Amino acid sequence: MSILIFAEQDGKALRPSTLHTVAAAAAWNLPIDLLVYGNNVEPAATEAAQIAGVRRVLVAKAEHLQHPLVEDVLDLGLSIAGEYSVILAAHSVFGKSLIPSLAARLDIAPITDVVEIQAPATYVRPSFAGNIMSTIQNNEQVQIVTVRATAFRAAERGGNAELVSVTVPASRGISSWVSEALNHSDRPELNSARIVIAGGRSLGEQFDELLNPIAEHLEAAVGATRACVDAGFAANDMQVGQTGTIIAPELYIAVGISGAMQHLAGIKDSKIIVAINHDPDAPIFKHADYGLVADLFTALPALNSALQQR
Ligand SMILES: Cc1cc2nc3c(=O)[nH]c(=O)nc-3n(C[C@H](O)[C@H](O)[C@H](O)COP(=O)(O)OP(=O)(O)OC[C@H]3O[C@@H](n4cnc5c(N)ncnc54)[C@H](O)[C@@H]3O)c2cc1C
Repeated sequence: MSILIFAEQDGKALRPSTLHTVAAAAAWNLPIDLLVYGNNVEPAATEAAQIAGVRRVLVAKAEHLQHPLVEDVLDLGLSIAGEYSVILAAHSVFGKSLIPSLAARLDIAPITDVVEIQAPATYVRPSFAGNIMSTIQNNEQVQIVTVRATAFRAAERGGNAELVSVTVPASRGISSWVSEALNHSDRPELNSARIVIAGGRSLGEQFDELLNPIAEHLEAAVGATRACVDAGFAANDMQVGQTGTIIAPELYIAVGISGAMQHLAGIKDSKIIVAINHDPDAPIFKHADYGLVADLFTALPALNSALQQR
């Protein structure tokens, strides 16, 4: 009886969601093995071995895993899954794709996007864009689960796990990595930032000009609504909400955002919500701890100049 966790890493370090997934796994009180895969795996494997509560780091190194594709990681997972009674991944874009495929191949129902685990087999997960929290029991022999990283604390460092090499199955070659276009930014990542400032479509072409200086001051990540992304004012990976990134920062500042339920689904775990909107009846105000009824084109420059004088 032990747990397998699919880690995620970028060639330099583990992604923060992996630490949160390890903390979630502690609910079972079973030995935890962390599978780290890639071509340049050494830095992340070394980091993984230092996570408290990890028994073994399974190191899967292969050239074709340089840019891991779900099909290849699926075959790797299937080659070792038989040893485990619990299989976990973060509910990331990759985890959302991998875990259902793995579960289908093992003919086991997966439970996805859990925010609370009552081991051994009961979970709380959101339905209907977070409007209903369902408690469900899973009767499968093997628990296959994705966890919402922001709902769990990050695991502590201080472990000393054993590093074990695992054999990587050859690539099936049914898909291949062609290229990727990454947005480089010195700002914190949206899903792990302490402060997030986000804008709606009402910012228009002035989205960057008005939000970026404030984000710099606050060391905040910048997010956007889907309407804003669809209108081309912000990049896709900035979308916050049900079909974007789910965040739980200490401070969330919503600027010119109406507060549609699909957006709220992504921010409701924020500790403090501040809303700036010129419509006093905007739904966002029902969820905000602090609200400012003001024109954002006046309020944001004023906030920026106040921050500059600090
Ligand atoms: C299946 C599905 C999934 C979706 N997923 C997501 C998602 O993941 N994330 C998401 O965000 N949305 C999502 N949406 C879209 C969502 O329903 C809303 O349409 C969207 O969130 C609205 O974005 P918005 O607040 O920028 O725009 P609007 O709803 O148009 O609101 C604009 C707000 O700006 C205010 N405003 C305008 N001008 C000013 C000004 N000068 N000063 C101050 N305030 C001003 C207005 O009062 C208004 O409240 C989804 C929709 C569907 C159907």
